[in-house]
Amino acid sequence: MPEVIIIGGGVIGCSIGYHLAKSGCHDVAILEKGLLGSGSTERCAGGIRQQFFTQANIKFSMESVRFFERFEEETGHPADFRQNGYLMLITAEEDLAMFRQSIALQRSLGVDVNLLSPQEARGMVPGINIEDVLGASYCPTDGYADPYSVVQGFSSAARSLGVRIHQEAEVTGIERTGRAWCVNTSRGKFEAPGLIVAAGAWSSQIGEMVDVDIPVRPVRRHLFVTAPVQEIARNAPMVIEFCNGLWFRREGLGLIFGMRNPEEPEGFNTAVDWSFIPTISEVVCHRLPFLSGVGLARAQAGLYEDTPDVNAIIGGVPGVDGLYLACGFSGHGFMHAPAVGRVVAELVLGKLPSSELAPFALERFKLQAYQKEQCFV
Ligand SMILES: Cc1cc2nc3c(=O)[nH]c(=O)nc-3n(C[C@H](O)[C@H](O)[C@H](O)COP(=O)(O)OP(=O)(O)OC[C@H]3O[C@@H](n4cnc5c(N)ncnc54)[C@H](O)[C@@H]3O)c2cc1C
Repeated sequence: MPEVIIIGGGVIGCSIGYHLAKSGCHDVAILEKGLLGSGSTERCAGGIRQQFFTQANIKFSMESVRFFERFEEETGHPADFRQNGYLMLITAEEDLAMFRQSIALQRSLGVDVNLLSPQEARGMVPGINIEDVLGASYCPTDGYADPYSVVQGFSSAARSLGVRIHQEAEVTGIERTGRAWCVNTSRGKFEAPGLIVAAGAWSSQIGEMVDVDIPVRPVRRHLFVTAPVQEIARNAPMVIEFCNGLWFRREGLGLIFGMRNPEEPEGFNTAVDWSFIPTISEVVCHRLPFLSGVGLARAQAGLYEDTPDVNAIIGGVPGVDGLYLACGFSGHGFMHAPAVGRVVAELVLGKLPSSELAPFALERFKLQAYQKEQCFV
């Protein structure tokens, strides 16, 4: 019988499995209904930024950046981490005031981040239209990595430390028998005293199986790929337009880009919504006028896993022994996976967590005591 079962083989489940095994807990089983990384992780843009507005998220990112920098040394697998920086464009006076405060907070914690003028921003990414830009927040040590490689790195390192990974093993029901959790799957039964829910956008379904309300809602997000472009350099930073969540970066010969759709209903639909193209085209062509002459090569959609305050849920469940949650990353789970894996392993092994976890506690929703992360893409 394993000591711990992890439900979900995305970047979070694989990082937790790796960190548990690295800390000496080798008796771990990861149960994944599809293939490793086949949930939100493989649909993600791979962005890694330290530019958050809350201390807890900034610290998770700082730790994760240090981990991504030595990812190959840790796991034996490259992550293709490119520290090209993140440039966040600010177009409203009230946002500029908020950024001045958040930059001060980030700098006080040790992040190398600066407020740039619109001209300086265009100097970094020639091709952007700055007519309505008031300033830009820039951090050179932010960047992006390859999600597939990161899942491979964590999972292969976990496997070599003894973690058993069961793919195409869908969890269909969970019972409590004495001190153990008995998990029924399409590949048989698994039992363990420790159970970790790392099921991404599907976490509330697992919550129903254990009678715990996990407020994680699936929301579709798109990623578009353009035909080849020359105007944006290969080492240009990832760019985010703060007011509407438009983001873009170089990928191969073209650009990838996306944007939140305020009209998007909750749901598990991941078919591409082609009716969204005119809306996003208008926004992206305003910022990158040269794109109006460039075609789209491909589009895909995946799921964000949103919570009411767009912060993750990390920790135990009061009154329920041996149950831990690591879900609801609200669009920043890839970048936080290294730090989250480390802190969840500490919790499960009964160690004092070396990160502040109160902002991520499940109880915050019942107590209505939470601080929304405002730097949300
Ligand atoms: C378009 C887009 C762009 C994004 N860009 C970024 C970015 O730039 N940076 C960033 O940090 N994040 C980004 N994200 C968010 C990121 O993808 C997620 O936060 C992250 O992948 C969450 O990882 P996870 O392991 O929690 O979830 P997942 O990768 O979804 O893994 C959960 C796994 O649980 C499995 N599962 C579910 N139910 C069951 C069951 N009953 N039995 C067994 N297994 C089950 C699923 O199959 C899935 O593989 C983006 C997301 C999208 C959609």
